[in-house]
Amino acid sequence: MVKINQNYFALKESYLFSTTARKIREYQAANPDKPVIKMGIGDVTKPLTPSVVKALEKASAEMGVAETFRGYGDEQGYAFLRNAIVDYYKKIGNVTLEADEIFVADGAKSDIANFTDLFSNDNVIVIPDPVYPVYLDSNMMLGRKIVYIEGNEENGFLPMPYEGLEGDIVYLCSPNNPTGAVYTREQLKVWVDFAIANNMLLFFDAAYEAFIADKTLPRSIYEVEGARKCAVEFCSLSKTAGFTGTRCGYTVVPKDIEIEGRSLNKMWLRRQTTKFNGTSYIVQRGAEAVFGDEGIRDCYANIEYYKENARIITKALDEVGVWYTGGLNSPYVWLKCGMDSWEFFDLLLNDAQVAGTPGSGFGKCGEGYFRLTAFNTHENTIEAMERIKKIFKK
Ligand code: PLP
Repeated sequence: MVKINQNYFALKESYLFSTTARKIREYQAANPDKPVIKMGIGDVTKPLTPSVVKALEKASAEMGVAETFRGYGDEQGYAFLRNAIVDYYKKIGNVTLEADEIFVADGAKSDIANFTDLFSNDNVIVIPDPVYPVYLDSNMMLGRKIVYIEGNEENGFLPMPYEGLEGDIVYLCSPNNPTGAVYTREQLKVWVDFAIANNMLLFFDAAYEAFIADKTLPRSIYEVEGARKCAVEFCSLSKTAGFTGTRCGYTVVPKDIEIEGRSLNKMWLRRQTTKFNGTSYIVQRGAEAVFGDEGIRDCYANIEYYKENARIITKALDEVGVWYTGGLNSPYVWLKCGMDSWEFFDLLLNDAQVAGTPGSGFGKCGEGYFRLTAFNTHENTIEAMERIKKIFKK
């Protein structure tokens, strides 16, 4: 008899974005003359840059010519892209990686969720609350024990290890989704030392690293000494280069990591060569263009545009004295709404025609907080914040 994975039934129904979308739809249908400004979705709004489009077009044309056509590629990713990523790490954080420590993927989400394959189900998983829900759900699907580390106003939504914290795998996300908070180098050093001392493995999600402009903040965990022994890093071109629909990411698995005498890098290679046939050649050529001089310049111009929106949001919150994290080195601003997160969602929608995301959707510690995103136009962001200020003034 077929037996299904019962762990799926322990998952919370994923209703956060479908509920917010339904509420916005219903409001708009009832009030067509009051357009809602959407600041809830964590998706880019700017198109691909010209250099990426040119590279995608060129690669597509190559696929239509017998001499340049490509079939199956290297599961780990083409050398041209892995070498470009090696150079990028050198540029952003003076980090030295080898090309075979980089695994190209179709985005960060699949690798984050799939990497759990390599570990036995009796590992204890340490997950920050609030955080990107994939960490929790992908481990719950395997029936694993979860320990939460709490983010709150006191720790600036950057939970740190403490004596007695027990677990095997720790997820860290910096800049964080949803809070926009960024770990300092010193804080990450504490995590790395703790992981080494306690035989833990860190999964570091750097999907928003490109938003970090402050040179004192680390953009990769490998900027921290010791991290090569205990950390796997996941990264994505989704927010760096507007690849949410094009799909490309990469995972770094240092060759220094050995668990029970086994190389994690070799295990991941074995897993990928068995279960993954690579990211498309065309997309990898587009991704390569992101890391060229023109690509970096254009992508960073788009990021700057979003960050100007984040500045508009934080300036308005400062004016009305509302507590928040994020915004400076992140497209997310996480504000204290001072009431139930869903009630605040309804209040903003009905009285200000602005939509955001209730913090409680990202974990229990998100209750009382609210996420606004910078993925909109300057004009809409200015207008939305004028309306939000009025709500807070009331
Ligand atoms: N990690 C975090 C923290 C994210 O917020 C997201 C997407 O929203 C991802 C990973 C997944 O990115 P990708 O589009 O590369 O799958």
